[in-house]
Amino acid sequence: MQAEINIGTFGHVDHGKTTLTKALTGKWTDTHSEELKRGISIRLGYADVSVYYCEKCNEYSNLEKCKCGKETEFRRRISFVDSPGHETLMTTAIAASSIIDGALFLIAASESCPQPQTAEHLMILNAIGIKNIIIIQTKIDLVSKSRAIEHKNEIENFIKGSVAENAPIIPVLATHGINIESIFEVIEEKIPTPKRDVLAAPRFYVSRSFDVNKPGTEIAKLHGGVFGGSLIQGMLKIGDEVELRPGLQKNTFLEPIKFKIVSLHSEADKLEQAHPGGLIAIGTLLDPSITKSDMFVGAVIGHPGKLPPVVDVINVKYVLLERKDIENLPFRQTESIVINAHTATGIGVIANLAKGIATIKLKRPICIDKGSKIALSRRIGHRWRLCGCGTIS
Ligand code: ZN
Repeated sequence: MQAEINIGTFGHVDHGKTTLTKALTGKWTDTHSEELKRGISIRLGYADVSVYYCEKCNEYSNLEKCKCGKETEFRRRISFVDSPGHETLMTTAIAASSIIDGALFLIAASESCPQPQTAEHLMILNAIGIKNIIIIQTKIDLVSKSRAIEHKNEIENFIKGSVAENAPIIPVLATHGINIESIFEVIEEKIPTPKRDVLAAPRFYVSRSFDVNKPGTEIAKLHGGVFGGSLIQGMLKIGDEVELRPGLQKNTFLEPIKFKIVSLHSEADKLEQAHPGGLIAIGTLLDPSITKSDMFVGAVIGHPGKLPPVVDVINVKYVLLERKDIENLPFRQTESIVINAHTATGIGVIANLAKGIATIKLKRPICIDKGSKIALSRRIGHRWRLCGCGTIS
């Protein structure tokens, strides 16, 4: 069983996202902290859940058997994509916005609304144009009933005129699983599975690549290299001949890697074929030494000759973000810029600026479609700070 849709979780880092994801899926998405600890580059975490419906109670849940005792009816599988409040992860979230079909936006009742980070997240949701937003008012147990109502009014004022205007606001007590069924109900009502073009040329964004073999494995028992990531359009099947771009560095050029798909996995199951939704792993017969250690993060896999162009100069129609914590001045020519697009990260220099379009010369080429959303970061002090977002034109 593979997830049909991806729902991003946004909001302040302390507003209870991990607890909510646990209440929704029964799992912790704490892979981030582990990955951060291991010093690996930051990427999105996923947790899948199946949604069921009980006719007798007219209620949605993640239970195969309702608490009333009746067998429930399977509706669909959902993947929650965790994009925590950390700035670098927000950058990743913007870059990955093409894989997100809807968003849960968490706002804790224990603080007045908006907190600076909450305002920044709404600005980002606005800038990348994520629709299908559901606001989750968390931590209602920490305030009185009248304060919770007052806080709801603060939220309504805050979202006026934004992409989240008219979004439903659902109060929950995630630690005790209270009102979680309302979230499932609103997700089922407000975030339908988009019509996917299964005939489109497949696009698979690589967010991980690894060697699954334990050290010392006999040669005959070695597994080929594995790619993890997200399919955003089309279908992939076992046996498909595909290619990966930009590819392997050969002297002065990058050579696409051609291979056959020998296995497909979703979070929970082996698949014969994969459609967009959730995180997917592709098994290959490639030498695992070339796929180890996330060597191919940011690459794209698809049918040979059908992939986006590999480019080292991009034109970006951009907007600068209004940030309260940093002075975000207009871009300058020759300024260094870090871009994040789908799962790829690139460093480059602004070669030209004209009419809201920045021409950026990248150090290393990336494989990218026109129209892709990108996040822009600039150096402020000693750090790269998220400063804008845009679209490849
Ligand atoms: Zn029931």
